[in-house]
Amino acid sequence: SKTAYVRTKPHLNIGTMGHVDHGKTTLTAAITKVLAGRGTGTFVPFDRIDRAPEEAARGITINIAHLEYETDTRHYAHVDMPGHADYVKNMVTGAAQLDGAILVVSALDGIMPQTAEHVLLARQVGVDHIVVALNKADAVDDGEDAVLADLVELEVRDLLTAQGYPGDAVPVVRVSGLRALEGDPRWTASIEALLDAVDTYVPMPERYLDAPFLLPVENVLTITGRGTVVTGAVERGTLRLGDRVAVLGADVESVVTGLETFGKPMTEAQAGDNVALLLRGVPRGAVRRGHVVAAPGSVVPSRRFSARVYLLSGKEGGRTTPVASGYRPQFYIRTADVVGDIELTTAPVARPGQTVEMTVELGREVPLEPGLGFAIREGGRTVGAGTVLTVGE
Ligand code: GDP
Ligand code: MG
Repeated sequence: SKTAYVRTKPHLNIGTMGHVDHGKTTLTAAITKVLAGRGTGTFVPFDRIDRAPEEAARGITINIAHLEYETDTRHYAHVDMPGHADYVKNMVTGAAQLDGAILVVSALDGIMPQTAEHVLLARQVGVDHIVVALNKADAVDDGEDAVLADLVELEVRDLLTAQGYPGDAVPVVRVSGLRALEGDPRWTASIEALLDAVDTYVPMPERYLDAPFLLPVENVLTITGRGTVVTGAVERGTLRLGDRVAVLGADVESVVTGLETFGKPMTEAQAGDNVALLLRGVPRGAVRRGHVVAAPGSVVPSRRFSARVYLLSGKEGGRTTPVASGYRPQFYIRTADVVGDIELTTAPVARPGQTVEMTVELGREVPLEPGLGFAIREGGRTVGAGTVLTVGE
């Protein structure tokens, strides 16, 4: 039988971000190797992370690898994603609910377009703490090359400052994921230093344990004969085995008859946990990504809301032309992807680079509340980031 999950340390969600080929997956594998050496993690080789076989085997196309490990003081869930598009999708939809991020920058190459985009995305979705892994430090180790690493470090600090992070205070740790993975003691120590920086620099976020339970559905699996399993990160509240829940979007109520985190059964899930819930009697196909599991009666789904929205400039990857009332982009709200009609309320047109207020009429009802963040996408790219002001009329 499976070992139960025992909550002995505070739990945080982190992940790697950064330009393709700068070494995110190699570093992720190296972290698991170093912690396996300490006995507080299981080594996950590069190939297993990049292909995320567990999800692939279940026939789900979700390009995100979830791993878990512990340091001396904390339990972490760590996500790594293969491609740039996966970052955009998972970060803006909240599938990757990061309490902090490790920005991987190759000391050989310096900041690249996706480095800057991921920092911007992190800012938009409220990732307030970033630790920089200046990777491939083994390749810029001697003499003149060492100057290159110094320059890249300055460049990264400037980029972070420009996006509203405390660029001078952010820890920048020179590491080599590749050499650590090969067992080199010096570079193994560099990974330890990086983990210490994460432990100390990323604070434990406030968890709303007493609030009514809410989990945005990230994925759904049907286990023949047992019911429907939904997975996702608990946004707030606490859930116990046997609790009654409403599935908003599917319009059903159910009882939670199974509760797991990383394959380990648990009796109580809390805000911040990555969990799988077995829902009794929920018919196959009734629940989808984008639905919300919540304490019955605690949230009322709605189609209309007012919002303040920042339209990304062309330079930030946004539109190059203004928008007006009648514009119908996609709204990414929690894990939901819904079309919406906008009506500008403070100006006749809104130009890229501006912040405007609008009312939105969504194509279907979703749970909304003041303060909730969302992204606006069009043709596969993020063109706006907003916050809900009021819900309903
Ligand atoms: P990702 O796309 O950011 O996940 O990058 P990968 O982890 O797939 O690494 C891209 C390439 O960089 C691979 O060929 C790695 O072997 C190489 N690489 C990764 N980390 C290091 C490092 O610390 N030093 C050196 N020299 N090469 C590295
Ligand atoms: Mg990778």
